[in-house]
Amino acid sequence: MATATRKMIDCRLYPSDSNCSLTIAGTEEEVLKAAREHAVSAHGHPDSPELVASLRSVLKDEKS
Ligand SMILES: [Zn+2]
Repeated sequence: MATATRKMIDCRLYPSDSNCSLTIAGTEEEVLKAAREHAVSAHGHPDSPELVASLRSVLKDEKS
């Protein structure tokens, strides 16, 4: 039985000036979608392919 590795993004590891401590975890697709919306709405990042690429670069495997 294949279990997809859950991914996580810890906002503390992502460069921002808002001291955000949010952690988003789920499948890679879910995390990227939620993190993208979060980065735009909470951090004011412009929504762009570069934003998604930078979010992908800080994605980590969730440790259980
Ligand atoms: Zn944040």
